[in-house]
Amino acid sequence: MTERPSADRSEPEGAEAYRVLARKYRPTTFGQLIGQDALVRTLTNAITSGRLAHGYMLTGVRGVGKTTTARLIARALNCIGADGKGGPTPEPCGVCVHCKAIAEDRHVDVLEMDAASRTGIDDIRELLDGVRYRPTSARYKIYIIDEVHMLSEKAFNALLKTLEEPPEHVKFIFATTEIRKVPVTVLSRCQRFDLRRIESGDLQKLFAGISKREGAVVDDGALALVARAADGSARDGLSILDQAISQAAGKQVSESAVRDMLGLADRALVFDLFESVMSGGVKKALDLLADQYAAGASPVVILQDLLELVHWMTRIKVAPEGAEDPALAETERTRGVAMAGKLSMPVLTRAWQMLLKGLSEARAAPMPLQAVEMVIVRMAYAAELPTPADAIKALENGAPATRPSISAPSSPPGGGARAVARGSVMSSVDYAPQTNVQPTAHAQTAPEFMPMPQTFGAVVDLFLEKREAGMATLLKHNVRLVRFENGLIEFNPDKNAPKDLAGQVGKLLTQWTGQRWVASVVNTAGQMTLHEQELEHAKADPLVKSILEAFPGATIAGVRRADEP
Ligand SMILES: [Zn+2]
Repeated sequence: MTERPSADRSEPEGAEAYRVLARKYRPTTFGQLIGQDALVRTLTNAITSGRLAHGYMLTGVRGVGKTTTARLIARALNCIGADGKGGPTPEPCGVCVHCKAIAEDRHVDVLEMDAASRTGIDDIRELLDGVRYRPTSARYKIYIIDEVHMLSEKAFNALLKTLEEPPEHVKFIFATTEIRKVPVTVLSRCQRFDLRRIESGDLQKLFAGISKREGAVVDDGALALVARAADGSARDGLSILDQAISQAAGKQVSESAVRDMLGLADRALVFDLFESVMSGGVKKALDLLADQYAAGASPVVILQDLLELVHWMTRIKVAPEGAEDPALAETERTRGVAMAGKLSMPVLTRAWQMLLKGLSEARAAPMPLQAVEMVIVRMAYAAELPTPADAIKALENGAPATRPSISAPSSPPGGGARAVARGSVMSSVDYAPQTNVQPTAHAQTAPEFMPMPQTFGAVVDLFLEKREAGMATLLKHNVRLVRFENGLIEFNPDKNAPKDLAGQVGKLLTQWTGQRWVASVVNTAGQMTLHEQELEHAKADPLVKSILEAFPGATIAGVRRADEP
């Protein structure tokens, strides 16, 4: 999500200093932190029981409230209460000198540093220099270091020294969007809190409340759009809301105004588009896309909307009760459910894969609209084709392979259709999810050691079973077997196989079977790869032969056994 301008807007004339909504409604108590119940509970317990850590690590995506939480913790630790006699409290009073100064970013004992801009050892040294001095007025000297993962190695080491033996009067609060880049030595000395993305329903409620307090009338649909665009971040959402309210200039904020502002496609039109695509109506689909584009919707966003729609339909197929969610628009409830009922799971999964692939293409394309058009065309033609499973079934029964489309009778694709359709049934296999790496029940209830594999194929199966799909693929595609005996494998890898493949294979097999295995690389030519063997075998199969004849130009992209999911 990109930063949206909002903080630098000019102040309205004569009004009191304008504050952006995100600042104005920044939570001042833990109770106001929405969607972070677990964090609030743990912190409250820690503070009331007096078990205060020296370091806190706040992690979560940007805009989720890390610095706000850090300041709240600083207040909680330093609050002295309205009467000036209180101790650390999970409910900072908000009126004592410390609460006020911290809220206004001007407390001398609360030091904030953004590690993104000051990554070096000197910066951190300068900061840590003051650690040994007692706080000037507060109970604790508090160091808030934002984006702590950006610190250099040396800077981390310096920090670690202080964290190992922190003076009683010092607390550190770190915030990071990339917890994995923070050294474990630092992590282990902190109490960690994961800030969750805020659910869009919670955001919508928050935005509704704030709009009301601002005296702005905002449609429910508009609020839902803002919540969706906020993508889990209250701050981002408030910036959008801010913009929408000021654009409406005192009038009601409508759903369509927010849609225009965000460059979103109309929801109903996204449904239209999807319906056209899935019924093979290329011409109509392209016209709808062009309309949306002309109306200002970004092609990439349209694809995202389609993806979201497919995802949602797939979910309600699995769990129909999801459609009862009152947060859904009426269109989604009625039209979406009906459409989902007509589309089979394999068709939805294929649509998902094609859209996902198309999305990355569109993002990389110099002309996203063209890329999106191509995705639409591909999908519309694929919709006319049977799924690979249907094709096989139909050929087995000797009937032509067709798949009922969702709005029959559909307009048949234009003159070039057959040419495009040819050869693409097999390539559409590319879009099928590779489900053969799923963990099996057997793997979960496996005894301590696995049975000894008796063939090289069985070795590959064992890797799959142990969820080492990457290595299984390498063994299947990139090595030629030269010798196989119990406990010994010799193979000739191609240039794409990693150098340590043999070592890894030997090590894992030994570990899994409890018996010593040696795998080694030899330069003898060896057999065909397992993959090549499978293809050869498949070509000889009468059913596959008939498919290849039915779809000239098609090639076999892969082979899956019938017993595989
Ligand atoms: Zn206070």
